[in-house]
Amino acid sequence: MTARQQAIEAIASRRVASTQNYLEHAGEDIYGQYVFGEEAQREYLAKAVFKKLRRTIEGLEPFDPAIADAVANGVKQWAAAHGATHYTHWFVPLSGSSAEKHDSFLNPTGDSSILAEFSGKGLIQGEPDASSFPSGGIRSTFEARGYTAWDVTSPIFLQVEPNGVTLTIPTAFVSYTGEALDHKIPLLRSQQALGQQALRVLRWFGNNSVQRVFTTIGPEQEYFLVDRQLAELRPDLILTGRTLFGAPSPKGQELEDQYFGPIRERILAFMMDLDRELWRVGIPAKTRHNEVAPAQFELAPVFEGTTTGSDHNMVVMNLMRRIAARHGLAALLHEKPFRGVNGSGKHNNWSMATDEGENLLDPGHDPHANAQFLAFLVAIIRAVNANADILRASIADANQDHRLGANEAPPAIMSVFLGEQLEDVISQLEGGSADSSKKGGSTDLGASSLPVLPRDATDRNRTSPFAFTGNKFEFRAVGSSAAIYWPQTVLNTAVADSLARLADELEKLECNDMAGLTKILSGIVKEHKQVLFEGNNYSEEWYAEAARRGLPNRRSTVESLPDLETAKAKKLFSKYGVLSERELEARVEVNWEKYVKVINIEANATLDIARTMILPAVVKYLGELGAAGSSKGVAAVSAAVTAGADKLVDAIHALEHAQHAAHEADGVRAEARAFHDKVIPAQDAVRAAADDLETLVADDLWPLPKYRELLFQY
Ligand code: ADP
Ligand code: MG
Repeated sequence: MTARQQAIEAIASRRVASTQNYLEHAGEDIYGQYVFGEEAQREYLAKAVFKKLRRTIEGLEPFDPAIADAVANGVKQWAAAHGATHYTHWFVPLSGSSAEKHDSFLNPTGDSSILAEFSGKGLIQGEPDASSFPSGGIRSTFEARGYTAWDVTSPIFLQVEPNGVTLTIPTAFVSYTGEALDHKIPLLRSQQALGQQALRVLRWFGNNSVQRVFTTIGPEQEYFLVDRQLAELRPDLILTGRTLFGAPSPKGQELEDQYFGPIRERILAFMMDLDRELWRVGIPAKTRHNEVAPAQFELAPVFEGTTTGSDHNMVVMNLMRRIAARHGLAALLHEKPFRGVNGSGKHNNWSMATDEGENLLDPGHDPHANAQFLAFLVAIIRAVNANADILRASIADANQDHRLGANEAPPAIMSVFLGEQLEDVISQLEGGSADSSKKGGSTDLGASSLPVLPRDATDRNRTSPFAFTGNKFEFRAVGSSAAIYWPQTVLNTAVADSLARLADELEKLECNDMAGLTKILSGIVKEHKQVLFEGNNYSEEWYAEAARRGLPNRRSTVESLPDLETAKAKKLFSKYGVLSERELEARVEVNWEKYVKVINIEANATLDIARTMILPAVVKYLGELGAAGSSKGVAAVSAAVTAGADKLVDAIHALEHAQHAAHEADGVRAEARAFHDKVIPAQDAVRAAADDLETLVADDLWPLPKYRELLFQY
């Protein structure tokens, strides 16, 4: 039996769920068990220290270093009570993956006894080597100093593994020279910028009690699960996260029987386990279901403040991978693991809220009469239209090129969906004033046993990259594997800028001058309504219409990244102190480099697999055919396989050549272009030849687990 056949056979025994008896723990309150949250803080900190820390966490005063030692001591007591032996400063450098370096609490002392140590300094500051993380030129290899700083707004938690417990402190990561080297710092700054500008608008409306406005995030996470033993036999999945080869499965997603379908026992066992571990670290996982593609699933949490929610999304992705492994599964978070099957994204539900608990994007029953809501709504419409190119660039990378601009959900053109009711209100506003709101109604299902359903005033649009969904926007174009800090930073900054302009204009009027407000909003709508689109974003007509309207349509990363290098982009980020020009340049540089590296790794893996796995299988098959006599059937198969093998060999040579030429290009931008224009098509040709051969070569000789197995056997 081949390794592939053994893997398939082994699946049957793993279909039975884990035998752990979770009912033993039923009713136990596990939520937040591993979080140094309010409850633990109250228990482990002196009252005055506790109060001070809470005020900082709530954004009401800066962190007072005088309490650092006391807090560190409380944190250590709490962690030790849970069995922690190590602590780590956890951060998200520009690589986009989380980073951690563990230190033990133990310090050997002279007379060989051991003392537990964790000072205030250990809590609030760390010093990882900054030169080994991507910095886009901010740090070179000989300038190593960089600091991590505790981000008080994101809860400290424990990573509990079967073999030990690590105290985990979310931090920001900054260079010795003071530049942000991570994704957290700009997000915090953008949050602050947006909060300040939103407050100006609220004050104009006469609201003097709100202290703080912040953004909220509920990221819906899509992912695939495949059998781990099968995945291990695919070097492409292991190295690049996606399949670089694979003929279509005879059955795909055409029966539409997966979406919301019953969840298989093995998958449900994974989901149960995952939810439980997420709850323990205080992540409010709420919804789970089968997604559209076979073997595709989704998890949605309850929304939180954006910095915590963004950290939590990183933890969700990490825990998904770990817990999948426990169940003999591999979690694939790549945007496009399988060709010809739906890809994965994140739907970032986003809104603005006040410290008094008001959701600023809640229209209420009569949106036309809710002037404050309309002001925020119109400001967001302008933000997206004026910065569509920058928003698009914030979600551009090599993985996303398989979705955005590639005839898949969602398109690369940024547009805003409002829904019938708001679209109507906005067009009334454009005409001078909004006087009415379309109402929902009710739907009679025609059977007396069924309830009459209240009908929302607005339908949904699943094709829109940026859709209003009742009391929040849904940024639906973010990639499934992405750290969400950066797209949310860009969105916050764009909205901060638009609110600042609005506030500038409003502050010239008397407070609450509704006629004046209406005139301003009407002017903004006139100028920016081109970004509004209610139809099917995947249709050919929309591409043509968007081009007529002059909306940017950047179909690939290499077309999109230059939009972050314009004077406009530099000004936007530096004006609000979110990123200095140097910090922005560094980020974009990292993105260019990453693009080249990802495509280069894929080309390497393609060549390696084609040469050492696929060609040998083909040659072996030709040998078997050669020994099988000279019947008409054998001759026909031999001829087809021989022709396919010749094609594959030629394509391999062409890819080697294209890759070599791309490396010769001058500078990372030219290199990226060469990879995009030449290497990717050459790689596609290798794949096409190999995928043809997959349909010809005897099944028992084929080394790579096939799509039908990966997608349907788990
Ligand atoms: P929908 O039916 O529109 O998908 P749900 O209530 O199921 O709405 O929410 C989907 C996601 O949106 C969840 O993660 C949810 O927590 C999040 N969400 C809801 N309200 C907000 C909000 N005000 N801000 C940010 N995210 C929100
Ligand atoms: Mg949704």
